[in-house]
Amino acid sequence: MEYTGFEDLKNRVCVITGGAGVLGSSMAEALSAAGVKTAVIDLNNEAATSLAGKLESKFGVESVGVAASVLDRESLNDAHGVIVERFGKIDYLVNAAGGNSPKATTRVEQIDRAGKSDITGNFFGLDIEGFRQVFDLNFMGTLLPTMVFGGSMTERGSGVIINISSMNAFKPLTKIPAYSAAKSSINNFTQWLAVHFGKTGVRVNAIAPGFFLTDQNRFLLTDKNTGALTPRGEKIIANTPVGKFGQPEDLNGALLFLLSDISSFVNGVVLPVDGGYSAFGGV
Ligand code: NAD
Repeated sequence: MEYTGFEDLKNRVCVITGGAGVLGSSMAEALSAAGVKTAVIDLNNEAATSLAGKLESKFGVESVGVAASVLDRESLNDAHGVIVERFGKIDYLVNAAGGNSPKATTRVEQIDRAGKSDITGNFFGLDIEGFRQVFDLNFMGTLLPTMVFGGSMTERGSGVIINISSMNAFKPLTKIPAYSAAKSSINNFTQWLAVHFGKTGVRVNAIAPGFFLTDQNRFLLTDKNTGALTPRGEKIIANTPVGKFGQPEDLNGALLFLLSDISSFVNGVVLPVDGGYSAFGGV
């Protein structure tokens, strides 16, 4: 897809965490197509470096892959040094590292009194470490990069930070209590930061993607043998007014809009990109 009308984005520099993932790499591609220089941060060094190489050769716009963990401040500080040395400045941060874990997922949606004695698969049997990992990756994994990369933006007096929320932030989804609560904290934190940075020239917004079939949720939404929709997958489609899952590229218009100066008075919002899912009451 061509992204025209975002001339102000050209030659700006964007750090994108989890940039080698499904949604992150699609966003990095849209950024490159719009002339933004990208720093793709990911735990997976090979995937980040290879994506950066592909972006450079496809779009002729500079990109660098940097290995760092969003949970390790020191590695983020090192990444900051590498990026500033390469590009001289940082204009944008997209906090796209995040996700759920099967370890923090219940097997059943609801329990009854009889079901309490068998805790495997319900809330009482959840692995607390899994819970902690999901909280850390989504919340701490947004907090730490914002501390490390946001400082140079507030000092320069311009910049945009985009956090990645989810549908479950508005209303929790069954089976994924840790991911729902963690993404809810992203909405709250986005608002908090937007206020805190309000006078600095740095804006903070979030995008809440609807349902995209990716490796993180495939095990919940499709049958691994047949590929057919699970009852949960069918429920999602039935509750998405446009009647389909999103494609990663569907997020890119919202991303470019929120980064561009054309949205300079948009601050502290969580923008759903969900085919109408969050607007539908189910009846
Ligand atoms: P993904 O799993 O494809 O990508 C995540 C990337 O983050 C991977 O490349 C992974 O290596 C990297 N990563 C994991 N831990 C990291 C760490 N500690 N430090 C640095 N990088 C790390 O996920 P995705 O589907 O592209 O999701 C991207 C974001 O969108 C996440 O925040 C996710 O919660 C959110 N989201 C996804 C969907 C969906 O349907 N896929 C829906 C709503 C929100």
